[in-house]
Amino acid sequence: MAINKTPAIILHSRKQGETSKILTMLTEQYGKQEVIAKGSRSVKSRFSGLLEPFNHIDIVFYRNENRSFQYLSQADLVEQFPVLHEQLGKLALAAIPCEIINRSEKDGHKNPQLFHLLLETLQALEDRDSGLKNIIRCFHLHFLEISGLEPDLAGCSHCGHNGADRKYIFTLDSGVYCCQECGQFTEYSVKMSGQTLECLRWLRQVDMKTAAGIKIPAGIGKELDSLLITYMRLHVEGLMVLRSLEYLEQLQSKLNNK
Ligand SMILES: [Zn+2]
Repeated sequence: MAINKTPAIILHSRKQGETSKILTMLTEQYGKQEVIAKGSRSVKSRFSGLLEPFNHIDIVFYRNENRSFQYLSQADLVEQFPVLHEQLGKLALAAIPCEIINRSEKDGHKNPQLFHLLLETLQALEDRDSGLKNIIRCFHLHFLEISGLEPDLAGCSHCGHNGADRKYIFTLDSGVYCCQECGQFTEYSVKMSGQTLECLRWLRQVDMKTAAGIKIPAGIGKELDSLLITYMRLHVEGLMVLRSLEYLEQLQSKLNNK
């Protein structure tokens, strides 16, 4: 049995027995891991207050690849995100990247780039007060890039045009697009306005905190979100059901009806 040390972020936590927790973590060095923290729900536990979702911690755990979950031996807090827990809207948004990673990453697949992307996403959500949806849009685009599934946004696949002055057809299965004049709709096509294309190209280039500084009009944002989520669901296994996204939609419709 190997002793492993690594930075980790808690994606999900569930109760186990009377006093323990099973935690799903994205670790920097060992990918996604299910780890049991024995006795961690008792008041006197050395893990008390450390093992909350989103927490960035350094852990030591015993790894045995033949077991479905590993044993947590030590945890030290690196960074907490108190605002994410206090504000319902931020909590709902922070749950989205955690759920996407939890559902799509295979256990033990080392992916330090993804670990740092998640950390950057949580830090930006914690720090910023507006433009929060742009942070999630950036996460989606970088997640696709890391997974080798990045859509090709360079230009129309026929004539190379990419200005905001035209309407486009985005092909979901191949991840390329063309002007409406240059191509035809198929069952895997969606409409993409020139402004949506412009926003996607911009969001891919800027860091998350810069992205949060710009307000994308609601109609463009809706088209962009629908395109990204549909594209991700088609290409990334395990994302057909996303409870965090459903919850966010319910929360927004409640707020709109107030
Ligand atoms: Zn064209």
